[in-house]
Formats: sequence, C-alpha cells, structure tokens
Amino acid sequence: MIVMKFGGTSVEDAPAIGRVAEIVGSRSADDPVVVVSALARVTDQLLSAGRAAAAGDRSAALESIQALRQRHLDAASDLLPAAYSSKLQPELESSFDHLQELLISIATLQELSPRSTDGLLSFGELLSSEIVSAAFAARGLSCEHVDARECLITDAAHTKAAPLFDETRARLEARLRPLVERHSIPVMGGFVGSTLDGIPTTIGRGGSDYSASIVGAALDAGRIEIWTDVPGMMTTDPNLCPEARLITEISFDEAAELASFGAKVLHPATLLPAIEKNIPVWVLNSRDPAGAGTCIRAHAPRNHHPVRAIAAKRHTTIVNVAGERAWIPRGFLREVLAVFDRHECQVDIVASSQVRISLAVESDSVTPELLAALESFAPVSCEPRQAIVSVVGENLRGRQGIAARVFSSVAAAGVNVRMISQGASEINIGFVIQEEDVPAAVRRLHSDLFADPKGREGLAMAAVQPQPGTARSCDSH
Ligand code: ADP
Ligand code: ASP
Ligand code: MG
Repeated sequence: MIVMKFGGTSVEDAPAIGRVAEIVGSRSADDPVVVVSALARVTDQLLSAGRAAAAGDRSAALESIQALRQRHLDAASDLLPAAYSSKLQPELESSFDHLQELLISIATLQELSPRSTDGLLSFGELLSSEIVSAAFAARGLSCEHVDARECLITDAAHTKAAPLFDETRARLEARLRPLVERHSIPVMGGFVGSTLDGIPTTIGRGGSDYSASIVGAALDAGRIEIWTDVPGMMTTDPNLCPEARLITEISFDEAAELASFGAKVLHPATLLPAIEKNIPVWVLNSRDPAGAGTCIRAHAPRNHHPVRAIAAKRHTTIVNVAGERAWIPRGFLREVLAVFDRHECQVDIVASSQVRISLAVESDSVTPELLAALESFAPVSCEPRQAIVSVVGENLRGRQGIAARVFSSVAAAGVNVRMISQGASEINIGFVIQEEDVPAAVRRLHSDLFADPKGREGLAMAAVQPQPGTARSCDSH
C-alpha cells in the first residue's frame, strides 16, 4: 500500500478535487490510503473567524462561516451527480451548524482557548475529506471516509499536539488495514487528531504532511506521496526565486534539514516516521501528475552543485542575554538554555561571546513569560524581524571554500550577516539576516551556487531526471 497526501491547493475547488480523483484512480493498484488537507485557505479563515468571535465581532465571524458553507456546498454540487450530492449535503450542513454553534459559544465567552481553536480548525479537514471521499465514490472508486479523530491519537497540547504513536499505530491498523485489504481506499483528513478522551486536537500548522507519514509508517507503506502545488522539492522556494529548479533526488538528512529551516513544502516533522521505517517520500505536483517529482530517501547521489538547496525561515527573533558583570560566568549558558527549554522555546541558532549569548528563535515563541524569566537573572534585549537562511547539502561535508563562497555572495547582495552557524550540522551552513533582506540574499546565493556554466550542469541535471510516471521505481535503500 501507499499513502497519498493532497495539500490545500490540490483540493481547493471542484476541478482540483476532480484531478485528485484521477490521480488516485491511476494508482488504485497500489492500494492507496488518501490523506487530505482542508480546502486552500480554509484553516486561516476558520482561525480568523474564531478570533473575530473572541473579539466580540460575532457578525463578522458568522458571515465568514456563511461564505465557507457556500464554498463547500458549491464544490460538492459541482463535483457530484444529484444522487451523491443530496446524500452529502445534509452532512455538510450539519457540520456547518455545529461549527456555527461553536463560534457562537466562543463569541459568548469572548475567549478562543487552544482547545476551542482545535475544535474550530478540525472542521477544515473533516469537511474536505468528506467531499473528497464522495467525489471518489461518484467516480466509481471504492472508498470509505475515515474520521481522523478516531485514528490519530495525541497528547492534549492543543494546537501543537504530539502523537501518541503506539495508540495511533494500533488504531490505524485496526481501522485502515481491513479497508486496504479489501481494496477500498480510506480517505481521511490530515492535521487533525484527538486525545484519548476524544477531544479534537491539531498537530501544528502544515501538519497534514506529518499525518501522512505517521499513517505511512504505521502501516509500513511502500512509499509516501506528498502532492502539492509545485513540481517537487526545489533548489529554493520558487515563489521567492523563479530560477529555482526541481531536485529529482535528495537524501532524508538534506530534506529534513531544509524542512526544519523553512522549506514549507514539507512540515518539519514529516520525515521522522519515514526515516524510522526507511520509506521513500515523494513530492509531486497535482497540476502535473506526469512530472518527475522529487524522491526523498536514505541516500541520494551527489550532484555537481556545491549545495543541494537553500531555505529561508522568516519570523525569527534574536534574543540577546548579557552576562551580569559584562562577562559570562560558568554555567550561565546552561541556565539560559534551561529557561528556553522550560518555556518550550526551540533555539535554532546560538552564538556566545565573553559578554553575551545570542539565540535565534521563532518569533511566536518569545513570550512575555520567557522574557520575564530571563530578565530575572540577566539583562535581555530582542531583535525581531530576522530570518535564518540555510544552505544545505551533503556536498558541504569536508569541502573547502563553500562558506567563503556563501558569505561573499551574501555580501555582494549588500546584505549584512548578524549570526552564523556552521558545523553543528555537517550539511548545513545557516546565518541570520534581516527578514526584509531574504529575497535579495536568496536570489543572489541561488544564482551564484547554481550557476550553469555553458549549460553543462543543467544538462547533467536533466540527464538524471527519472522519466515521468516512473515514480514507483524509487525504492528505499
Ligand atoms: P500544501 O498546501 O500542498 O501543503 P504548502 O503551501 O504547504 O503546500 O507547500 C508548498 C509551498 O512550499 C510552495 O508553494 C512553495 O512556495 C513552498 N516552498 C518553500 N520552499 C520550497 C522548496 N525548496 N521547494 C518547493 N517548494 C517550496
Ligand atoms: N490545513 C492545515 C493548515 O493549513 C494543515 C495542512 O494544510 O497541512 O495548516
Ligand atoms: Mg503544507
């Protein structure tokens, strides 16, 4: 069996869902399990409706839910013949009635807790998976809708819940395996789960990729396919740099490093379950199903470029913690890191000098409580609106001169480097710049590191591209 995950843009409307049905139909011999995201932008819209309700703007909240109701009903009626549509419509209406009740209670309490946020957001994937499942059935695919809340069991850390793997594996095995065995395609929402008590949870924004790999690892899938709106993993974000090229093969380590440092095409945790079971992960374009896509697996052949790809992680803040007497006493770093740890603030890059420690962290994790805890024993200052740029590739191991090339390229773009990290990971050179400098730095780096003298390397890359439709030939090593 295989797992096929379709992101928001791949299920954004009736034509997109129609394409998904065709793609899944073309793989039916592989016994797919399908995991879908909410329709494009729905999670953001649910969140802003919840915030409006909590801020007392009940009518804005209800209006946006009305628009969402219409969008889902329209997609269903465009996709489905009358017999299927008349069966699904009351189910969708009833979900929207529940959603509306939830928003009214948020507006009454004027509070959007993490728990009610999850209750709210879970509707996105529940609705999309019901529509996609009905669309498959209407096209003659044998399938069954599966409620992800019954299978993906998590702790109660609402909005960023961690899966309870043993329980989840047992539930997935019990619920999905019999369907797969009788060649019926399970269709479930990603991103959403529930606690052992059945309270809905979500596993972090962009988490449907992670759901897919959890399902793949639990059921020992032959491969996991992540279908999205770009040709595959690319040498950098194509929306940032139009010259970005498709990477046809990349190692687990390289792809995991890129995902952790801002390559949004994969949720950062996606590869962990796949690595554990050595399951190849493919990134494919739902608008071009015959495209080669990217194969992510344990080992990938080195290429001619100094690095495999460049990622940028925006929304970063540098927190500076000074030594009390203008120098850093022994044990100070450990104490500082313990504070970050207690406040669940993950440190991406750390640099220390005689007089202070600088830590680059995700901006949302810099809470007033974290700052108060640090200030209780040291002077603290923050530099918001920073970004971490990472150049990643197995070719960095032991190769001379790449760091020099990287930093002279960034300097040539007129961009100042505020912090540097090299060596912690042998395959990543990371540095912090102002967020507004990201486009200039990344474009310049891309053109310098992926230069194509006389077209030679472009030709070499084309030569190693698997032929379209050969996706199944990439086995795990
Ligand atoms: P989905 O809705 O399918 O989950 P996402 O929006 O989460 O899709 O991820 C796809 C996006 O990731 C692309 O549109 C692209 O802008 C972005 N992206 C960032 N880095 C990369 C990269 N290295 N390769 C491909 N896409 C990337
Ligand atoms: N719908 C969720 C989000 O937008 C999960 C996902 O798309 O992966 O974050
Ligand atoms: Mg995504």
